[in-house]
Amino acid sequence: METVACPECDLLQQVPDLAPGGKARCPRCGNTLATRATDPLDRPLALTLAAAVAFIVAHTTPLMGLSAVGRRASTTIAGGVLEMWRQGEQITALIVAFCAAIAPGAYILLMLTVLLAVRRPPAPAWVGELLRWGHAVRPWSMIEVMILGILVALIKIAELATVEAGIGMYAVGALMVLLTAIMITIDPREAWKRIAWADEQ
Ligand SMILES: [Zn+2]
Repeated sequence: METVACPECDLLQQVPDLAPGGKARCPRCGNTLATRATDPLDRPLALTLAAAVAFIVAHTTPLMGLSAVGRRASTTIAGGVLEMWRQGEQITALIVAFCAAIAPGAYILLMLTVLLAVRRPPAPAWVGELLRWGHAVRPWSMIEVMILGILVALIKIAELATVEAGIGMYAVGALMVLLTAIMITIDPREAWKRIAWADEQ
């Protein structure tokens, strides 16, 4: 049994130990208080490793290739950001760099560290700090925003040149799905259970 306050309506209540795949609901507002995934840490770890690979591929292979009147060009995410910066779009370049590279990269790294550290409990208290940072940075990793920007650019360019999607583009798509899947499958309560209390030190 564990006493928790409902994050939605603040009702204090006892949550019983859940069976794998079980769910606990707040009796007042119906908000889901706790779920117990069948595999609360190993599955997100597998997804995070896959996301790390997709992230590396997305940033090292060309996002798209262009060909017009016999000339060919291709660009990576970093190349695109650099080009935006040179064209005088510094603010857009910074936003894209943050949402497409820094935030998702940091999220993957933080989650990887947390998920590996909690495999051998008790994990040190700083792991909890990293978990908090992960939650803070997650809303900022908006690969979707970049996809939208790319599509707009593609429509414009398609009138002038032949555009073909590069491997990086598929990796970005995979990364988008994986980041969401990590968030859905990870159980922060399960992770917190394996982290040493701050007062123990
Ligand atoms: Zn409630």
